Amino acid sequence: MNATDRLTELFMRFPGIGPKQAKRFVYFLLREHFHFKEQLINALQELKHTGKQCERCYSFFGDKNLKNPKSKCHICLNENRDEKILMIVEKELDLDAIEKTGSYNGQYFILGGVLPPLTEKPSELIRVRELVARIYDDITNDSLEEIIFALPVTDYGDVTKEYLEKTLGQIVGMKNIKMSTLARGLSSGLELEYVDRDTFKSALERRQ
Ligand SMILES: [Zn+2]
Repeated sequence: MNATDRLTELFMRFPGIGPKQAKRFVYFLLREHFHFKEQLINALQELKHTGKQCERCYSFFGDKNLKNPKSKCHICLNENRDEKILMIVEKELDLDAIEKTGSYNGQYFILGGVLPPLTEKPSELIRVRELVARIYDDITNDSLEEIIFALPVTDYGDVTKEYLEKTLGQIVGMKNIKMSTLARGLSSGLELEYVDRDTFKSALERRQ
C-alpha cells in the first residue's frame, strides 16, 4: 500500500470522517507546502511522546516533563480550584468548552460516553467504576460537597444521569453530598460542546 492509501485509511479512523473526506485530506496534504507537513509531523511526534491521560479526570494533556511520575492534568493539579465541586461531563470537548467560558472553577470527571436506554453493561460504555473510585477518594480527603451532572440533554443523557444517581446514591447519601444538574438552556438542547459563556453561566447558576 502506498502512502496516500495508508493515510486515507488512517484519516478514516477519525470520528465522523468517511472515505471521501479522508481522500480530501490526503489531496490537501499533497498540495500543501513542505513547511505545513513538517509542522504536522512535529506536532504528532510531540503528541506521541508527551500525550498523557489524567488519572483523576481522564482528560488528555501534553506533558513535556516525561520524568514527572504523576499523571495529572493542569486542572487537577491547580490548587486554586475548588475541590468541593465535581462536574461530570460526557467528553473531552465538553470540558474544553466549559473551561473556555471561564465560569467554572471546580473539578471534572469525563465519563467517556453516555448510555443507551436499557443497556445491560453500563460499565463497558462509561467510566462508572473509575467514577466511584474517584468519589471515594474525594470522600476520604473530605473534600467533596457537590456533584454536578453536565450531561447531554438527550434520552441517552437522561438514562446516564438516572443510572449514576442510583449508583452513586448510597455513597453520596452517607456524606450528605449534594447532586445537582445544570439547568436546561433556554432552547431545549443545551449542547455543551458549543455552549457560550452566558448560557453556561446561567445554566450553572440555575442548577437544581
Ligand atoms: Zn485532570
